[in-house]
Amino acid sequence: MIDKQEKLIDKKGIRLDGRKADELRPLKLEVGVLPNADGSAYIEHGKNKILVGVFGPREMHPKHLSRPDRMVLRCRYHMAPFSVQERKSPAPSRREVELSKVIREALEPALFLEMYPRTGIDIFVEILQADGGTRCASITAAALALADSGIPMRDLVVACAAGKVDDTVVLDLYDAEDKLGVADVPVAYMPNLNAVTLLQMDGILTHAEFEKAVNMAIDGCKKIYALQKEALKTKYMHIKEETQEEVEE
Ligand code: UDP
Repeated sequence: MIDKQEKLIDKKGIRLDGRKADELRPLKLEVGVLPNADGSAYIEHGKNKILVGVFGPREMHPKHLSRPDRMVLRCRYHMAPFSVQERKSPAPSRREVELSKVIREALEPALFLEMYPRTGIDIFVEILQADGGTRCASITAAALALADSGIPMRDLVVACAAGKVDDTVVLDLYDAEDKLGVADVPVAYMPNLNAVTLLQMDGILTHAEFEKAVNMAIDGCKKIYALQKEALKTKYMHIKEETQEEVEE
């Protein structure tokens, strides 16, 4: 446990986990990890471990929830009981209901919902291990799972938080910084459309600090976007090569 009195950043500007202020945690992204889902992705963002499965577009169940003019996107963010230090009840908490909503709203602008009336897409986000910033890591992975399902998208969505720890604006807060820091600003971003689809703030920042945090988070998103593209290429270049080999045989 970290003592509340302990400094989270040392005199040299290094954080307790060894990162500089503008450094991301290590990331690992994988696409198409669940053969039974229409689309899926797995992300390790620092110590966060998150699995996302997507079903659809398919007929809505129950039917009365379908919309005559658009597709309905549903999202369930769920933390496994073993994902945090103190066992999390498997029942949905108020926080999980909120995060399900913000993740859905961050992803909706990337989809052509009006092109699939009466249908639905379900996104299931399972947090296997949490260490701060799970909503952002979930959005990054869910966008990959949607792309893996084959549904046309305006852009990928990528998310990352910035915030203030001690007196410094920092990128990508982990759990201790999230809890003991001054502020946390999660941002979701569509890189090609240069559009922000989620912007939240927990804590207090000056106008200048807020601007710095948002710009830092967007820079972080751009770096993660490069990894998202790599993850998609890793799966689909491989499939393309296999198909090519089959054609040649
Ligand atoms: N957390 C926890 N128990 C809970 C919920 C959250 O220990 O029941 C931790 C977890 O590590 C999570 C962090 O608190 O990542 C920050 O949660 P927050 O609500 O700020 O969302 P997040 O930063 O994960 O998007």
